[in-house]
Amino acid sequence: MDPLSKALGEIRRVLDDEFFQESVKRAAGHAEEKVPDILDSHPYLKELAREVRRVKEEVISNLDYYIEEAMKSIERIGGKAYLASDASEAREIVGRIVGRGKLVVMSKSMTAEEIGLREYLESLGNEVWETDLGQLLIQLEGGKPMHSVAPAIHLSRERVASLLREKLGFEVPEGARPEDMVRMVRSFLRSKFERADVGISGANAIAAETGSIVLVENEGNIRLVTGLPPIHIALAGVEKIVPTLMDAIKVALVQAAYDGLYPPNYINVISGPSATADIEHVRVRGAHGPLQLHVVLLDNGRLEASRNQLLREQLRCIRCGRCQWECPVWQHTANLWGGPAYGGPMGVIWTAITMGVDAAAGLSMLCLGCRRCDYVCPVEIPLSRILLGLKRIYAHGLLGGQG
Ligand code: SF4
Repeated sequence: MDPLSKALGEIRRVLDDEFFQESVKRAAGHAEEKVPDILDSHPYLKELAREVRRVKEEVISNLDYYIEEAMKSIERIGGKAYLASDASEAREIVGRIVGRGKLVVMSKSMTAEEIGLREYLESLGNEVWETDLGQLLIQLEGGKPMHSVAPAIHLSRERVASLLREKLGFEVPEGARPEDMVRMVRSFLRSKFERADVGISGANAIAAETGSIVLVENEGNIRLVTGLPPIHIALAGVEKIVPTLMDAIKVALVQAAYDGLYPPNYINVISGPSATADIEHVRVRGAHGPLQLHVVLLDNGRLEASRNQLLREQLRCIRCGRCQWECPVWQHTANLWGGPAYGGPMGVIWTAITMGVDAAAGLSMLCLGCRRCDYVCPVEIPLSRILLGLKRIYAHGLLGGQG
């Protein structure tokens, strides 16, 4: 079945689902209200967004150089750096590091979703747990994240309670409050964090200058995933590289603001495995945190996209998901429109980058061309123009190349 027909089949099912429609719309409404308030209260954020746009553009124009610099810096500070050309190579690299029969905790990562990492590690005989609450619910449901930062917006508290009962055996009473369920999950995941062999995270940004990984979050799970297990693996698309550590922190702040959660509860900066210099001021790696840090940089179409005039600007994306909240199509379909991993305006284009233009061109036909996504993107990606380019490719294909 072609990608457009497949998406339409899934979308038809949710168009009559009142709860789905209501909850996606409500979440989008909240985000639309919050972001302008945040930007009004902290005007410097708009300037930071402009700076992020500029540095991202510099990296896209010199991606090979920055990949090399980032890898050298990661190795210099005691980490191991890998460059995976595609999803299968990335899975194999991570699989070799993890091994079999291990307990793995993961923090939410769209890049892990892109390569099907959790399912792959499970197929090797590992026990794998998502630790972001929304992403854990998606794991239990066996579905797809419905937004890049709020994956489980389509689930009611009743549905969450029944998932926790059915899949984890929790004794959730009828009428349980969200707070009660969050506490149950917290205590369940604590035991996993404490015993985990490996923690796997994504990255909001990676500084080429220092090899540092920057991760922004609110739940506190990323601190545990990247701090407690003896091995930390970070998986990130090569477009996450920025020149300096200051640039990486700016990306984290801008991402949090345009996602509507500002200030973020936590910003994590990870520069190599844990270390101490408390004996004779000699630096020894491997203290209380991870003993090993592995950073897997994923190409999977990004280098080619950096040289493609239609797609290159999408590599500026910081995955704040604001284009999704604003899009009138997404407000009815959530991420069921966009491709297997990604969704919404940015999702269709990420599908084109990571799976090829043929996988995404048909999906672009659902875009209305209203340009709301363009106006709200913090790094000024011309999403509607790129989608129009994909529509042209699709129409050209329908006409058998005569368009
Ligand atoms: S231009 Fe298309 S993708 Fe962008 S907000 Fe409008 S309908 Fe959504």
